[in-house]
This record gives sequence, structure tokens and C-alpha cells, in this order.
Amino acid sequence: MTDYGSISLTGRKIDVSQKEMTFSEKLYLPGIIKGMGITLKHFFSKKVTVQYPDEKREFSPVYRGQHILMRDENGAERCTACGLCALACPAEAITMTSAERKPGEENLYREEKYASVYEINMLRCIFCGLCEEACPKEAIFLTEKISNADYSREGFIFGKDKLVLKPEQQVL
Ligand code: SF4
Ligand code: SF4
Repeated sequence: MTDYGSISLTGRKIDVSQKEMTFSEKLYLPGIIKGMGITLKHFFSKKVTVQYPDEKREFSPVYRGQHILMRDENGAERCTACGLCALACPAEAITMTSAERKPGEENLYREEKYASVYEINMLRCIFCGLCEEACPKEAIFLTEKISNADYSREGFIFGKDKLVLKPEQQVL
């Protein structure tokens, strides 16, 4: 029969023994000096932490952060509320309500149909980028921006106010 108590997945298992402590172990001093030595060694070794937000790490070229809903070159919203992004989303994080564009709103919405409500639940989103790939209108992109933290669940439901590209922002 296998003795499961003796199996060690990491190979670093040390059996606890009840043997008497030696004189030097009872003094604790050698242990303390050894511990201080390890601490000192880390003082002079290369730091792996960064002083965020003053210092920022370089992003990976494939990093995917907060979404943006794009405007076209005339400033009109590109999204036509087709729902393909919501369909492609494995986390079911996207919801929207579509509306018909009215005469005179051509400068606001590029297509005859647009999203009057467009929401992404950032607590559900896994930043996979499938919504971006599914969009036939090049309306949704994932940017390098890190989503803001919040104290309430409601704060993580990002609506058009947070997602749509601001008119003063650069068109991608
Ligand atoms: S990035 Fe992925 S999980 Fe997030 S909204 Fe888009 S499809 Fe859904
Ligand atoms: S973002 Fe793209 S895929 Fe999603 S509803 Fe708008 S047009 Fe359709």
C-alpha cells in the first residue's frame, strides 16, 4: 500500500522531528544571525518591486486593458448595436440596448441603428479581446488603460460615459 504521508510533490518536504535542541539552537543566536544575513543579502540584491504609480512597468505588446468605443473620422459613434460582441463574450459581460437614429443625428451615429445603452461589467470581463475580434464595425477596442478600482459593484459597470471615445481624444 502507498504511504501517502511520505509523498512530496515539490521534493522540499522536511519531516518534523521531536529531537532535543542542541545548545546553539537553544541560544537562538545562530538562527537570528543567519536570518539577518538573508535580510541583508536582499537589501543589496536587485529590487523586483516598482514604486507604482510614480514608476510604471512596461506593458507587454499584447496587453489588453480597458475597452474603448470608437468614433469615426467625423466624430460619429461607430457602434451599430449589432450585438456580436455580446454574443462572442465568454463572460457575458456586455449588454446593450439598440435605438433607431433620428433624422439630424447623422453626425452622432454612423449607422441607422446605434447603442443607446452599452455596458460592460468589468468584474466579469476577463480581457480576452473576443469582443474586439467579433466587431464588424471596428467599434470596440481594448486599450492599454488599466480599469479604475472602485468600492462598489455598480462602479464596475462601465457605460457609454466611460467607454465612448471623448471627442478631444485621438481617433485610433
Ligand atoms: S474582453 Fe472578453 S470578457 Fe471582456 S467584454 Fe470583451 S469578450 Fe467579454
Ligand atoms: S461594438 Fe461592434 S460588435 Fe459590439 S454591438 Fe457595436 S458594432 Fe456590434
